[in-house]
Amino acid sequence: HVSFPYARNPPDKLLGGLLPDGLDERSCRSRYESSMYSRNPARRPSPHLIAKLRRHEELQRRCGPNTDAYSRAVQHLRAGKSVDSPECKYVVSISYRGLGNRILAAASAFLYAVLTDRVLLVDPSNEMDELFCEPFPGTTWLLPRRDFPLASYTNFSIDTAESYGNMLKNKVLSADVPLPAFVYLHLDHDYGDEDKMFFCDDDQRLLSNVQWLVMRTDMYTVPGLFLVTAFQEELDMLFPERDAVFHHLARYLFHPTNHVWGLVTRYYRAYLSRAELRLGVQVRNFDPWTLESPVVLRQITSCLWKEKLLPEVLDTEERSMPLMPGGSTRTTAVLVTSLRSWYYERIKGLYWDRATATGEDVSVHQPSHEGQQQYGKKSHDDRAWAEMYLLSLCDVLVTSGWSTFGYVAQGIGGMTPWVLHKPTNVTSPPEPPCFRDMSMEPCFHAPHVYDCKLKRGADTGKMLPHVRNCEDVSWGLKLV
Ligand code: GDP
Repeated sequence: HVSFPYARNPPDKLLGGLLPDGLDERSCRSRYESSMYSRNPARRPSPHLIAKLRRHEELQRRCGPNTDAYSRAVQHLRAGKSVDSPECKYVVSISYRGLGNRILAAASAFLYAVLTDRVLLVDPSNEMDELFCEPFPGTTWLLPRRDFPLASYTNFSIDTAESYGNMLKNKVLSADVPLPAFVYLHLDHDYGDEDKMFFCDDDQRLLSNVQWLVMRTDMYTVPGLFLVTAFQEELDMLFPERDAVFHHLARYLFHPTNHVWGLVTRYYRAYLSRAELRLGVQVRNFDPWTLESPVVLRQITSCLWKEKLLPEVLDTEERSMPLMPGGSTRTTAVLVTSLRSWYYERIKGLYWDRATATGEDVSVHQPSHEGQQQYGKKSHDDRAWAEMYLLSLCDVLVTSGWSTFGYVAQGIGGMTPWVLHKPTNVTSPPEPPCFRDMSMEPCFHAPHVYDCKLKRGADTGKMLPHVRNCEDVSWGLKLV
């Protein structure tokens, strides 16, 4: 394929029917070009998922912003009036925290919207309106902030009186009184036991009649939805492969805008395309002592060598048989992403200073080193998104446990990563340094631990064979 030099497979513009046809190609090049860059075989979406997405797009068009139905729904909300059987129902997803968190939150809200026949509206805060193309044809997924009656929705918190948890606590919700016009779903990492009742069947039945839901989460709550009995049959049909739920959701929803796609493709062509193997290494340092730590460096190299992801370096400078220029057996490009350049410099130095045991040449690259996490700075998020995407285009991936940044990359790329344990000991690396994950799915960091039927505490990681505790966050849940 001369015109598609990077793909192993014939390009598949609509990703096996996952994407709708007929969207303008020039205004969002990534949507149709991504299959030309990706070398990993993508999972096939089920026919049921494809049909459901087409019906959902129709719902988004019929009820979304700039329709009569939307105006009526906004009027009800402004009047604080609940309606008996609303013609259109909505879930607004608040966008906050890091980009990885925001992507997981929007994907979770979308699946919830699909399962409950609600229109998804994404809060445009924090560049959500500039990083991604519109996913639904003929309408917008962005909440029109200016006319939205809940003016301070971005400040909703665990203390908001209209949160589901607080309404349960204060006993203001019941089947006998009229429902409120909206409910705020506080599904954030700090949520309380009452908020967590969201993941129970009875509570879903009550919420199903509320016209407007506003959701705040910084997590991938999808494994929690798999525990709601009422959703299970539909979820089984939508996702016969349960380890590919986020893979499909992310490839359907999140397409980099042209500017970000330019960052991705120029970098890929210049630094990665010619290598025979691309290894992505995502280094996320949560504790200050890990920012420039020889112990963590040792953890990374011992993971790479032990798992044979990179050739080891020799103690001597030269291998016994010097290679002629161009005589290398194979080349590997390592893409490091990190907020600092320290680890990148060290790994690059290792492979420059010493020869590899196999004679393989290893080049090491890092697109940016932004220093620290920043909020609300445009180029910062563009780069973060471009780097997540570049990681997803690698052939093999090593991620940092606990990081949503890595979860997004592995999901879009369809790769089960090797995961670096979160370092805890200042003097010696964790042993083993990394583990092969159970699946490419993100981990739901703070799930409920409650049996809704028995109404008592329970280990939600033991209820279903395909919803298990995560290896990086032991109390978290993930689909396998
Ligand atoms: P998490 O905190 O690791 O779960 O990931 P998030 O994406 O939610 O938040 C971290 C934020 O820090 C990102 O959104 C970026 O803004 C920034 N960041 C972290 N690691 C990197 C990196 O490797 N490259 C770039 N460009 N930014 C990063």
